[in-house]
This record gives sequence, structure tokens and C-alpha cells, in this order.
Amino acid sequence: MTTTYHTVGIGAGPANLSLAAMYDVLAPHEIALFEANDRPGWHDGMLHSGVRMQTGWVKDLVSLYDPTHPLSFLNYLVTTGRVYALLGAGFDTIPRIEYHQYLSWAAGQLPNITYGTPVDRVDFDGVLVSRSGGEVVARSQHLVIGTGTVPYRPDFLGALDPRAVVVADHLHQRLAAVPDEPDLPWIVIGSGQTSAECVAALLGRGFRDIRWIGRRSWFAPLEDSPSANDLYRPAYQQAFLNLSREVRERLVSGQILTSDGISPGTLRGVYQHNYEERLRTGRFPVTIMPSRTVTGARQLGAEVELECLTAGSGTEHHRAAYVVVAAGRRQAPLPFDDELSALVDFDERGDLVIEPDYSIRWKHADDHKIFVLNRGRYVQGLVDSNLSILPVRSAMVLNAIAGRAVCAVRDDFLSTQWA
Ligand SMILES: Cc1cc2nc3c(=O)[nH]c(=O)nc-3n(C[C@H](O)[C@H](O)[C@H](O)COP(=O)(O)OP(=O)(O)OC[C@H]3O[C@@H](n4cnc5c(N)ncnc54)[C@H](O)[C@@H]3O)c2cc1C
Repeated sequence: MTTTYHTVGIGAGPANLSLAAMYDVLAPHEIALFEANDRPGWHDGMLHSGVRMQTGWVKDLVSLYDPTHPLSFLNYLVTTGRVYALLGAGFDTIPRIEYHQYLSWAAGQLPNITYGTPVDRVDFDGVLVSRSGGEVVARSQHLVIGTGTVPYRPDFLGALDPRAVVVADHLHQRLAAVPDEPDLPWIVIGSGQTSAECVAALLGRGFRDIRWIGRRSWFAPLEDSPSANDLYRPAYQQAFLNLSREVRERLVSGQILTSDGISPGTLRGVYQHNYEERLRTGRFPVTIMPSRTVTGARQLGAEVELECLTAGSGTEHHRAAYVVVAAGRRQAPLPFDDELSALVDFDERGDLVIEPDYSIRWKHADDHKIFVLNRGRYVQGLVDSNLSILPVRSAMVLNAIAGRAVCAVRDDFLSTQWA
């Protein structure tokens, strides 16, 4: 018989893991998570050697709400015997593989996580019913969608030989099968951190004909100053929630480099490697090509030819044996069936109507909350698409489920007055 839970979470990424870790405040109620992957993981395809987190390790699943929680990052370090080694190594920000291992460690201690179970349909028959491959996997009073994002792949790449096009998430794995020919021409498309990491990975493999093509007018660094960090505080989030949608959209676009810029260390690594190779070999292995929008592509024998529109409205063509696509990410599809979708409110743009507490507006919302995490950058701000205050978001969701403040969030030391 299918179990009925208080809450079901779809996806076991950091968003839902944080919520599950803090769910004890609603005990004896329980949450169950269903995860498509067959084991714990976190952007597994992007674990190139040397990649670092963009957020500090205090920003783990629980500490900003409860630093004494057993699933804190510090407890992970101590109980797995690595605390002195990590401190001694002197990282500015920890390796991404460390955060990956921390999440796996935390997930291993949480009850009710089922792997290898993509939830492809949710319907409502008095309770919310989650299904995978036609089978009911759980019933629940509430639902939390934490399905994250999937890589964006422009349509015009669809007609190319799939062997020549590598989505960034698969580069690590694909590199193993690529011949060791340093002069193979590569193009990396993208202006953000992922594109920079792909360029660094190709350099690390010894390739010396890499063109890095990006739409931005320069490969812009992450803005990580104290005033930028002010935007990633509960106090700012509360101020942001009071603004109109129009103002929020304008602010998010102006603040984008506080979230989607390239870590200065990654940029320096690429530039320094490039410079040193020029000294050694007489040529730069990476040609840096900002201010270009890729508008089309065709297959020419074994090569791909990309068409780019330049900032000066000219057209350029570039050929390569392999194209790496790091052109951003989109929200994973919603698993609602048609009948459930008909009960849900969508705005004039076709977007879910998301409340400040992360719940969506739908017909039975009074008794059955459906929350969406990492889908509301224009509602809760850019903070919703990253890890900065995960436990605060979890606290807001838990308070909404309880219908009262079971988790208090404090952010009292404020020198900034938001307007
Ligand atoms: C390579 C990379 C590095 C990043 N580094 C940072 C960083 O350092 N700092 C920062 O603040 N942010 C970072 N981000 C941004 C963001 O914080 C992360 O993407 C974060 O993982 C988002 O957490 P999430 O739980 O919302 O989604 P995800 O981590 O994407 O997790 C979603 C999970 O849901 C599962 N899933 C999807 N659909 C279904 C379904 N239908 N049924 C069941 N399971 C499903 C997926 O398999 C996945 O495990 C990074 C993003 C990327 C891509």
C-alpha cells in the first residue's frame, strides 16, 4: 500500500535536502523525497578538477537557521575526520567536490529518500498523488517541488552531429572519449561560470585551439563585495517582496552579476594559463571572444560552423570539431497532470503565481500547499536561485506549512536602509 506523508518533496537537491533536514520542527509529521537520479549527487557532470564553490561553507543546509544541527557542514568535517586537513589547506572557497560529498553525507542520514524515482505526474484526488512511470509512489497533504534546473540547448544546435555538440554538464564524461589531439579546434559558448570552467577544463587537457564565445560585452566577474552580499540576506528579501513585479524584474536584471558572474579565481586561472602558454609556445590557446551572439549552426563534414552576430551588427563564422554549450539553464518541467494544472493559477505570462512564502496559488491551497523552490527569482529575488540562505527558505516553508512561526529567522544588524 502506498504511504501517505505529510509532505512529499520532488527532487533531492540542496533545496529539498535542507527542508528535509529541518522538517523535525514539525515532528511527528514526516517528509519523503523522491529523486530521479539513482544515488545522491550534485551537478556530477561539472566536477572538473579545481572547481570551487561560489558560496562560503557556512552557507550549508542548516547552519544559518540552526548551527547546532547535526547536519551542519562543520559537523560533517569533524565527524568524517577531515576538519584539520581542510582548514590547513587554506581554501578561500571549498572545492565543489567537497560540497558534493557533504550533501551525500547529509542525504545518507535523512530518512525517506527514494532514489531512481523520477516523479513524472502529480494529480489530486483529495490528497496530492505523486506518480513515477505510471505507479503511485506516495500520497501527501503537501508537496514541494525542488526539481532545480536543466541545461539550455538552443534549438539550432539540434540539427548537428550529436558527437560534435557537448552540453557543459556532460563535458567531464565526454572528455574521456575525445582523442588526445591538442590542435583539435573547440568552441565554448557562454558567458558565465560554467563556460569558464569548461574553458579551464579544456586547457587542463592540453587543447590549444579554443575559442570562448560569449554574449556579454566582457567575461564579467562575480560581484561579491559586502554591498552585493547585502542582497543575499533575509532582510533584503523581505524588502524585495514588498516591491511591484515590474520593479523586481528591473532590480534582478541589474543585480545579475552578483549571482551569474564568473569567480575571479577561475578567470585569473584561464588568463594566466593562456599567458604562460603564449610564452611557452608562441600562441594563445584560448581566443577570448565576447560581444557575440550565436544565431545559427550547420554541420560541414566533421566540423560545425557557428554563425555569430557581433556587437557591431556584423556577422562572423567560426568552425570547430567540438562545440561546448554552456548557455544557461532553464527550470525543470513541472510534473502536474492536466487536471491539476487546470486548478493552478498562472499569470498573464504563463508563470505560476508564487506567494512570498514559496507556495503557489491553486484551488485547494488552504488545506494542501504546493511549494516551488528555485523558481521565483522575480518574486523572492536572486537569492532563490542559489545556496546563500537555503535554511531561511526552508524556515519560511515550514512556517507556512505549520500556519505559525515555528522557525524564527533573525537578521537584526542592519546598516542598509532599502527603499
Ligand atoms: C555547476 C553548478 C555550480 C553551482 N554552484 C553554486 C555555488 O557555488 N553557490 C550557489 O549559491 N549556487 C550554485 N549553483 C546554483 C544553484 O545553487 C544550484 O543549482 C543548486 O543545486 C540548486 O538546488 P536545487 O535543489 O534547487 O536544484 P538541483 O541541485 O538541480 O536539484 C534538483 C534535483 O531534482 C531532481 N529532479 C529533477 N526533476 C525531478 C523529477 N521529476 N522527479 C524527481 N527528481 C527530479 C534532479 O535530479 C536533482 O537532483 C550552481 C549551479 C551549477 C549548475
